[in-house]
Amino acid sequence: MSDRTYAAEVTVGETATVAGWVHEVRDLGGIAFLILRDRTGQLQVKFEKDEMDDDLVEAGTGASRESVVRVTGLVEEEPRAPTGVEVVPETVEVIAEADPELPLDPSGKVDAEIDTRLNNRTLDLRRDEAKAIFEIRAEVLRAVREAFRETDCTEITTPKIVATGTEGGTELFPITYFGEEAFMNQSPQLFKQLIAGSGLERVFEIGPIFRAEEHNTPRHLNEATSIDFEGAFCDAHDAMDVAEAVVSAAYEAVVENCTDQLETLGLDEEIAVPDGDFPRLTYEEAIERVNATGQLDEQLVWGDDLSTEAERALGEDVGEFYFITDWPSEIKPFYIKDHDDEPDVSTGFDLMHPRMELVSGGQREHRYDPLIEGFEQQGLDPEQFAYYTEMFRYGMPPHAGFGLGGERLVMTMLGLENIREAVLFPRDRQRLSP
Ligand code: ATP
Ligand code: MG
Repeated sequence: MSDRTYAAEVTVGETATVAGWVHEVRDLGGIAFLILRDRTGQLQVKFEKDEMDDDLVEAGTGASRESVVRVTGLVEEEPRAPTGVEVVPETVEVIAEADPELPLDPSGKVDAEIDTRLNNRTLDLRRDEAKAIFEIRAEVLRAVREAFRETDCTEITTPKIVATGTEGGTELFPITYFGEEAFMNQSPQLFKQLIAGSGLERVFEIGPIFRAEEHNTPRHLNEATSIDFEGAFCDAHDAMDVAEAVVSAAYEAVVENCTDQLETLGLDEEIAVPDGDFPRLTYEEAIERVNATGQLDEQLVWGDDLSTEAERALGEDVGEFYFITDWPSEIKPFYIKDHDDEPDVSTGFDLMHPRMELVSGGQREHRYDPLIEGFEQQGLDPEQFAYYTEMFRYGMPPHAGFGLGGERLVMTMLGLENIREAVLFPRDRQRLSP
C-alpha cells in the first residue's frame, strides 16, 4: 500500500492512488461524487455515468458510507470541488464494506450521546473534532516531555502493580498477584521519591494512575494519566517553577503547532499562552479571598479543604492559573514536609486552573524519624512501607515534586465539559469496556 497518496497531498495533472473512507456519496443524476476521507482531509472523486464503465460507477457510488475504498485516477483542477481538485477514477476498489446501519454519524451532522460515542470510539474518532482533541493531547505530551528534558530530567517508568498503596488502602483497586493481594498503583509518589534520591536526581514520568473513587464526576476518572516530577535538592518553589514551565510549554506548543486542530474546535482565537508567572497565594490568603467573594454558603476556616464550589469561586476571582501554597499539614499527605518553624503548615501546593485543580505537589519529608512519625499519624503501618523508608536511612537529599493530571490539562486547555472527552477509552464507575 506504499503507493498511496494522502488526500491533501495529491498533485494536479498526476495519477494518484488514494485510500480512505466513503464520507459521502452525492448522486446528482448524470454525475455523482464520492467524497473520500483520510487522516488529512477529504477529496472529491467524480463519476460521469455516461462516459464511464458501469462497474466502475457502481463500485464508486454504490459503496455504503464509511466503507473503505481505494481509488486510482487522474487528479484535475476543479474550482467547485471542496478542495479545488478532484479525481477522475480509473479504478475503484471497495476494500472493506461498512454496514449501512451505523451506530453514529462520523460526518458529525447528527450529534450522538457521549455513551454512544465512547462505545464506538473508532467511528467517533473519524469525526474531525474528536480526532483534533487527541492530536492536541499528543502534542501536549510531546511538549511536556521536551520541557522536562530541558530542565535536566530523566524519564522513568515505575511499577503499576504494587504491594501497598501510596496513601493507604481506601482508594485502591485490589488485584490478585500469584495468589497474593496486590493493588493497582494510585500514584508513582513513593517510587519517584526513591529515584530522586538515586543518582538520577531529577526525574519525570507520564503514566497511568488508578483510583477506586466511587464518585462519578465530569473531572474524575478511575484510570487517569499522571505527569509526575520529582527533583533532588528542590524545595516547593523550585517544583512550582517546573510546573509553571511544563504547563506553559504545553500551551505554547499547542498554539504554535495545532492551528488546524484548534480551528476545527473553534478555539483558534480562544487559547492564550500563559505568561509562565502564576500568582502564588498562600492557603490563608486563598481562604480569605474566597470568603470575600461572598459566593459560599459557609465561610471557610483554617483546616478546611477547598470544595468544588470554593475552587470555582476562587478561580473566577483570580481569573488565571494560580498556586495555593502552605496548606495546613493535616489535610496534606504524610510525605509532604512541614515548615520547620511552623509544624501545622506544610510545604504542599496545588496549581489551579480557574476551573479546577491541576497539580498537587510539595517538598517531601526526607528525614527518617519525622517520616516514620508521619506514617503513624496517618494511621499507616511504616513496616509495610519498609522498601521506601529504609532508603531514607542511606542519604536521602531534600527533594520536591508534583503530579499533574494529563486529562485535566487537556480538558481545561480546550474547555471540555467532560474529562472523558480527553481520554480514548475512559474508565469510570460505569465503564470498563471498551
Ligand atoms: P481532586 O481533589 O481534584 O479529586 P486529588 O487532590 O485527589 O484531586 P492528587 O492526588 O492531588 O488528586 O493528584 C494529582 C493530580 O492528578 C490532580 O491535581 C489531578 O490533576 C489529577 N487527578 C487526580 N485524581 C484524578 C482522577 N480521579 N481523575 C483525573 N485526574 C486526577
Ligand atoms: Mg490534590
